[in-house]
Amino acid sequence: MVSPTAPGIQIGNLTKKFRVGRREVTALDGVDIHSAEGEFVSLLGPSGCGKSTILRILAGLEPQSGGQALVHGETPADMRRRHHLGIAFQDSALLPWRSVRSNIGLPMEIAGLRRDGSLIQELIDLVGLTGFEDARPGQLSGGMRQRVAIARALVVKPRILLLDEPFGALDDMTRQNLNVELLRIWTERPATTLMVTHGIAEAVFLSDTVVVMSARPGRVERVVGIDLPRPRTPEMMRSSEFHHYVDLLSSILFDSAAQGDAGQHDSPYAKSGGPR
Ligand code: ADP
Ligand code: MG
Repeated sequence: MVSPTAPGIQIGNLTKKFRVGRREVTALDGVDIHSAEGEFVSLLGPSGCGKSTILRILAGLEPQSGGQALVHGETPADMRRRHHLGIAFQDSALLPWRSVRSNIGLPMEIAGLRRDGSLIQELIDLVGLTGFEDARPGQLSGGMRQRVAIARALVVKPRILLLDEPFGALDDMTRQNLNVELLRIWTERPATTLMVTHGIAEAVFLSDTVVVMSARPGRVERVVGIDLPRPRTPEMMRSSEFHHYVDLLSSILFDSAAQGDAGQHDSPYAKSGGPR
């Protein structure tokens, strides 16, 4: 954490309505998410609850209908203009005709920044793709393509990292390995991070805070602070504290699904304490 007092994400009463034909669909209904600068926050919740919409609003790809969405006090437009954003989504969306090196350099070109070959090489080494600089995406495995996507997200030296199920399409083993890698990369290049995931264990492993959302319209169901020490190691995944958090988050998700959209929501900011 850079400074425990500086604000990171400041999402307040965020709402998003989509027009679908003649109907209006409320995707987000008063979402509040707050973090400190440099924190790693994960978003968990059922499919369709608006997780990607939150990321798309922060990335400036979608306007909100109401409320506030700031990171480090900057609006999405500010963040884009100043090249403070790094984004990696589930579908790595690499350009198939470009090499690994050239895909990673793409955000620099788009931003009109000078192409920095040594930074690109540094990132290729960081994500473990040394030797594959000239490979095309079609010559890589799914896990390797996601490594390229992470390196590409980092090339503008972002202060804010938005990850939407970056390893969601990969098999469990690859995914676990990449989570360990992501933790190492994030430790070496800290950024205020918001990651959408379906993986409860990976959310616990990586995060300072896990935000659980309820089904549509998306609201914050609970906020769980993860008080596991850093640096984190894969061995911690076998500790009773780790399992406590996995159980807690599973039951919140399960109860929320069972309860549907009816009933009262607990105060989301009653942050859950450490292991009992
Ligand atoms: P999640 O990422 O949690 O699965 P999304 O943010 O993708 O959910 O979607 C939230 C809700 O908003 C869904 O009901 C989805 O159908 C709707 N939605 C998302 N994008 C659009 C769009 N461009 N037009 C209309 N509805 C949309
Ligand atoms: Mg999504």
